[in-house]
Amino acid sequence: MARVDPTLWRDMMAYLRSRYASISRQWFEALEPIDLSSGLLVIATPSSVQRDYLQRKCIEQFNEAAQTSTGKLVGVRFITAEEAANYAAPSPAHSTVAAAAAVATTPTGIQKRLSDNGDHHDSPDQIVLSPDYSFDNFITGPNNQLAYAAAVAVANQPGNTYNPLFIHGGVGLGKTHLLQAICQQVLRERPQTSILYVSCDAFMNQFIECVQAGKMAEFRHRYRHVDLLVLDDIHFLGGGNRERSQEEFFHTFNELYQSSRQIVLSSDAPPADIPHLEERLVSRFNWGLVANVTKPHYETRVAILRAKARLRGIEVPDDVISFIATRVDSNARELEGAITTVIGHAALQSRAIDMELARAALGEPPSDGQTSQVTLQQIIDVVTRYYNVKLSDLQSRRRHKSVTEPRQVCMYLARQRTRFSLEEIGGYFGGRDHTTVMHSIRTVDDRCLTEPAFAQQVAHLDGQIAPA
Ligand code: ADP
Ligand code: MG
Repeated sequence: MARVDPTLWRDMMAYLRSRYASISRQWFEALEPIDLSSGLLVIATPSSVQRDYLQRKCIEQFNEAAQTSTGKLVGVRFITAEEAANYAAPSPAHSTVAAAAAVATTPTGIQKRLSDNGDHHDSPDQIVLSPDYSFDNFITGPNNQLAYAAAVAVANQPGNTYNPLFIHGGVGLGKTHLLQAICQQVLRERPQTSILYVSCDAFMNQFIECVQAGKMAEFRHRYRHVDLLVLDDIHFLGGGNRERSQEEFFHTFNELYQSSRQIVLSSDAPPADIPHLEERLVSRFNWGLVANVTKPHYETRVAILRAKARLRGIEVPDDVISFIATRVDSNARELEGAITTVIGHAALQSRAIDMELARAALGEPPSDGQTSQVTLQQIIDVVTRYYNVKLSDLQSRRRHKSVTEPRQVCMYLARQRTRFSLEEIGGYFGGRDHTTVMHSIRTVDDRCLTEPAFAQQVAHLDGQIAPA
């Protein structure tokens, strides 16, 4: 075995970090180069989940980094630390074959358990677990607390707590993340458990294929003999080909349920609201626990952004975090996209992340109160007219609701529509500090999520502020 030159390894990591900001994850630190010989670089990962993920999702980037750093045609292969203990380097005569095989190596993990269930080919439908989608990396808040707690309970005692566990909510709110976290925790704590984790789409496609190929026995064996069945985006059961798929799923469900096997489902709507879903399925989906995930509040958004930056091992200043959390209020996926964009810009330009960079990255003009399209005065005019208060009231120390609400709305709109900083806005409204402004923004934000009438009112005011 040939030791891997530490300088080469450092070069590779630096190359990956600079080129692929989005995949420069914290757990790259835990990778260990094992061997470089016969055109093959072997890298050990702490767990099989990480091995599978890297082998499936990051192999091209690693091959590129290895080839750039060595100047040679080097292939990369990932193995677990356990496998590394018994690893024998390929003999030089077979180097090309070994390198080619390395790239084509298929991950085991969940797939292995699937093949134990009679499926001997590597189906493209199977989802690779992302090591990032763990419970540790899941940020909780009032919007997802119940779903998170239920997922943890199910992972700790599959089949014995909530069955089925049904998690529903809009896109990008962490449903898939929780489903994968359950699989990973079960895999870790009970490696013998047979798990089947597929998208509902895949379930339906496989079903149709098996019907057409006359392989229903195989299909049933596959789905009805697992300890844990995780089906993502079950609302697709209400789509095309639904009658027979629903019928099949109904029997799958019953069989698993009766033998206390765990079922976990996610959906974009609660059971009763899934269009065209048979009544008997609706009622079964309600047998266990139905948990909702909703949009994250301001504080949770800040925590998610911090966590995503930390995962990539990158420092992002607080003002940039709060800037993104204020601008992006829809879901975690969008937050992640925004911070990835900012990190990517910084990496490309080899510069530190600051407000100027963040604004440019997110397509906002540079900070300059003068050039902003909307002026503070326009916002104040609209808000004071609506609430029938005076600017001096807003700037005063008064804390009566008749004054605090318009003041908070002003601060919120000022943040949304102008380029003024939190400090500048606070200064304008009676010398308040930036934490007060942040609190106001959060309050408005939270109320918009929970009080539709208030949200409408804010939207109405926002609509009245015309750019100058
Ligand atoms: P969904 O399946 O509900 O559409 P995902 O689980 O795919 O959403 O989440 C989208 C992205 O946002 C993922 O990268 C996920 O890690 C991240 N994410 C969602 N919710 C959270 C959370 N509470 N904490 C950390 N990351 C989250
Ligand atoms: Mg999903």
